[in-house]
Amino acid sequence: MPDLVYKSQTPLVEKGSTTLIITCSSNTFYPYMREFLEKYLQLPEGTYDYLSVPGGPQFLMLTEYLPKFAWAGQRWVKFLIEKHHLKKVILFTHEDCSWYHDERMVPAFLQKFGIGASGSGTASVKEKQMEDLKKMVESIHGLVSPIAVDAYYAEKETDGMIGFVKVV
Ligand SMILES: [Zn+2]
Repeated sequence: MPDLVYKSQTPLVEKGSTTLIITCSSNTFYPYMREFLEKYLQLPEGTYDYLSVPGGPQFLMLTEYLPKFAWAGQRWVKFLIEKHHLKKVILFTHEDCSWYHDERMVPAFLQKFGIGASGSGTASVKEKQMEDLKKMVESIHGLVSPIAVDAYYAEKETDGMIGFVKVV
C-alpha cells in the first residue's frame, strides 16, 4: 500500500469557474500573470480554468503548419468551455516568448516576412504578437459562440516590472 506523503492544509472547496485562461507555460512569466489575474481581474487562484502550453494560445493559429497541435488544442478549449459552461476566455502572450524564436514553431519564412525586416527585432516581434493575438481571438469566436474573449500582452517595463497591455 503506497504511503500518504502529504495532505493539504485546508479541505477541498469547489470555487466554480466561468473563465478559461490560456497562457504560455513560461515559468518566468507565470507569477506575474497570476498577480495580474488576482489584483486586476479579481480572479483569485482556483476560480478559473487554466490551460498552459508552450506558446500559449499560439496553437489556435497552427491549423496550416502544425494541424495536429491545432486540432488537440481546439478540442481542449471546446471541451472546457462546454463542459464547465464557461462565459469568457482570456488569452495571454508575453515578450521574449521562446515560441516566436523557434523555427520549428514559427516557420523561417514567416519569421523573415512577418518579423524584423526593419532590423529592430523587438518592436516588430511585439507587433506580430499583437496581430496574432487578434487572430487568436477570432479563432475562439469561430470555435464556440457566443463567448466573451479578452487578450493581453505582457512585457518588461523600463523599471523592470511586468506591464500588461489589453490588445482585445
Ligand atoms: Zn512563452
